[in-house]
Amino acid sequence: MSEAEKIHLFDSWLKESARIVISTHLHPDGDAVGSSCGLASYLKDRGRTVDVVFPDPVPDTLGFAMDPQIKGLTHSVRRDCEKLISEADLLISIDYNRPDRAAELEDAIRASKARKVLIDHHLNPDENFYDLIFSTIEISSSCEVLYGILKKLPDIDGNVPAIGASALKLLMLGMTTDTNNFANSTYPSTLQMASELLAAGVDRQEILSGLYNSYRENRFRFMGEYLSDKLTITPYGLAYAVITTEDLERYDIREGETEGFVNMPLGIAEVRMSIFLRQEGNLFRVSVRSKQGVSANRCATMYFNGGGHENASGGRLAIPQDVESAGAAREYIERSCSDFFSKDELWKSK
Ligand code: 5GP
Ligand code: MN
Repeated sequence: MSEAEKIHLFDSWLKESARIVISTHLHPDGDAVGSSCGLASYLKDRGRTVDVVFPDPVPDTLGFAMDPQIKGLTHSVRRDCEKLISEADLLISIDYNRPDRAAELEDAIRASKARKVLIDHHLNPDENFYDLIFSTIEISSSCEVLYGILKKLPDIDGNVPAIGASALKLLMLGMTTDTNNFANSTYPSTLQMASELLAAGVDRQEILSGLYNSYRENRFRFMGEYLSDKLTITPYGLAYAVITTEDLERYDIREGETEGFVNMPLGIAEVRMSIFLRQEGNLFRVSVRSKQGVSANRCATMYFNGGGHENASGGRLAIPQDVESAGAAREYIERSCSDFFSKDELWKSK
């Protein structure tokens, strides 16, 4: 099917559907929130019945981006989400590539008889599961994929302000966070989109202030300990840190407040890849970032039950299934990554 045919089909499904539910991935980040809520805002403005379901709550650090009307469309209580999913006749999955990334909502999504649409930018979308797929890999964010679709819908037809101020702000949010404020994954199309959003009146200062100048002091105190005490750098250029529940409690660190930590060691010339583990009960959430030429995605897939993008991936380690105890995580990373970096066919990007 051509791109134009896909857009036409999507447009007719949006118009035919009585109940639209948008879902995104576990631990929603700026792109997940921006794309899901941006699409919801566009649809709400057109009188559609639409809800956004999150497998877990949006972190407080991103709350500023949602006005009360948008917030009213969002849900993260499991039972409420499952009911909405079961009643929907159109499900739109955004910023994730496979149903299992919706964590506890996976079963409800799989059980649904609704039409299923994917809008995403991760590697390896599940092509068997979705009825219609918009997936681009070489792009900044899901917000950019969505923007490309919205612009081509007949009622917008290139008239960007018609997408709506609230939706445009959310799209700018997602492209800003997923590119690390236009440091990574920034293509000509990305800057073009940013330029069009600014021209349409998006207040970028408000977004930057909400994202980067509104943290609690604790985050920076803890960042000090992370950089001075927690971070290990191996002779082969791996930087890694393991943060336990006790560490997080000591500094009262909340969801979203270690955002960006994993990127920092890449500023060191010798570092090729950075791994950040954050304990959550009996598992570790894993973030992997790499410099160009090194495959974070392969590392996350091989050793951390995850995946994502070539240079920015994530995953998880279960205690005690994957690592015997929280204390054993450092040795696990050392062992797997010295293997990883010992063979060119493993660490090198293809
Ligand atoms: P983060 O480190 O910011 O949590 O995630 C970085 C990237 O990896 C994101 O694009 C995210 O969607 C992906 N990712 C994070 N955790 C997982 C996971 O458990 N499985 C997979 N397949 N991807 C993940
Ligand atoms: Mn994304």
